[in-house]
Amino acid sequence: MCGVFGIYGHKEAANLTYLGLHALQHRGQESAGIVTSDGSQLSLHRGMGHVIDVFPPEQLERLGGPHAIGHVRYSTAGGSALKNAQPIAVDYARGSIAVAHNGNLTNAEALREKLEERGSIFQSTSDTEVIVHLFAMSRQKSFEDRVADALSQVQGAYSLLILTPESMIAVRDPMGIRPLCLGRLPGTDTYVVASEPSSFDLIDAEYVREIEPGEMVVINQVGVKSVWPFAEVARHTCIFEYVYFARPDSNIDGVSVYEARKNLGRALAREHGIKADVVIPVPDSGVPATIGYAEESKLPFELGLVRSHYVGRTFIEPRQSIRHFGVRLKLNPISATLKGKVVVVVDDSIIRGTTSRKIVKMLRDAGAKEVHMRISSPPTKWPCYYGIDTPTRGELIASSHSVEEINQYITSDTLAYLGLDSMIHSVVSARTEATGRSTRRNLPIAPGDEASLKESSFCTACWTGNYPIKFTPHPRQHQMRLLDL
Ligand code: AMP
Repeated sequence: MCGVFGIYGHKEAANLTYLGLHALQHRGQESAGIVTSDGSQLSLHRGMGHVIDVFPPEQLERLGGPHAIGHVRYSTAGGSALKNAQPIAVDYARGSIAVAHNGNLTNAEALREKLEERGSIFQSTSDTEVIVHLFAMSRQKSFEDRVADALSQVQGAYSLLILTPESMIAVRDPMGIRPLCLGRLPGTDTYVVASEPSSFDLIDAEYVREIEPGEMVVINQVGVKSVWPFAEVARHTCIFEYVYFARPDSNIDGVSVYEARKNLGRALAREHGIKADVVIPVPDSGVPATIGYAEESKLPFELGLVRSHYVGRTFIEPRQSIRHFGVRLKLNPISATLKGKVVVVVDDSIIRGTTSRKIVKMLRDAGAKEVHMRISSPPTKWPCYYGIDTPTRGELIASSHSVEEINQYITSDTLAYLGLDSMIHSVVSARTEATGRSTRRNLPIAPGDEASLKESSFCTACWTGNYPIKFTPHPRQHQMRLLDL
């Protein structure tokens, strides 16, 4: 998972991108980077760590120019290293180009092998670099056609921002797997593009609309235009964005993430309600679903676990040993809420089961009489190949264990998951507004309109194994041997 942010036409482009990335920090904490353009030249700075650490004020000062793109990363392809940090920026025969990518390509290894056979030299193991090579090799004349040509060869998920000295291009893959939206500073010609619209709020930008699946938005001196280089296919937006990944203050493709999560909790209470004294969330991601659960079940909402905000999202750390340590570091129980109580605990997902197991133990140690675990999505059985960092199938506890076996493993009194149809319905019914203007059809889309999000518009592969884009595992032959210390 990653976050991208870009701005075209503002004298403080680097500063606003810094703020935009800060608001997208939940999408990745391993590395951050910004590339700016002054109209003739690109400037780049990238580093490992959080946005606030990578960009001290003097560093931002050096990133001059009115256009910028930025990226926050956590590795889903290519490992955690500075050379894989983004944006990737290169000089090629026709100029300079920078790319920031959210998503995962499913045929990157195969493409890379072909490119290397033809003599390409790669500087990173990131799948995004493949796009840069394909772009540089394209024989198309116009810049847009070269982007389209490169992207017509890749498969998988991509929400991309591309910066050249003169223009910024935003592209969302034909299935719209990862989110991407367009905004504007009110009353100006300054456009912004981001993974999530909550990042617009911090810089006082207004949300214009989602960038539609398969749409390429080109922003330059002439203005803003949409191009549709790919054949239209069915939308498959990742529903896990609503369940867990996106910020609750974001509205993605016309659906309020917060309302969607509350609906998930309400549905969970209807489907798997149980007599109890209190309902508590696993903070922070479980909070909105717990509010919904409490409302529907009429149980008091309490805080039974307090989260330290001074550690990152522990799951994101790629090393197993750090993650185990992190759960302890992150959550602490409040025994006053728990002592002698029958407690319902709501979380969004169980991946390996390690977090839930530790939480149940922590709650019992703090005095809870009974612990009933409720999960606001179905059992996660299949890995994601489109940009969410899930482990291999063998590590996903639900791929080889029944709900009852998982219940025994995590030592809860009962465990229940939300059903697939209820999850999808909860998200769709949280649509609060039209997705914006459909530039492809050039028609306004009203809520309830056929063209808007509907039940079949989502990728649900991690629960069903129905992958909308085929993924054939390719032996990875590209381990980096060069250690740049
Ligand atoms: P686990 O301990 O492996 O079962 O992880 C479950 C916890 O990780 C839950 O509390 C989820 O909120 C969280 N989680 C689920 N998916 C992800 C993800 N892709 N990245 C980070 N955290 C996640």
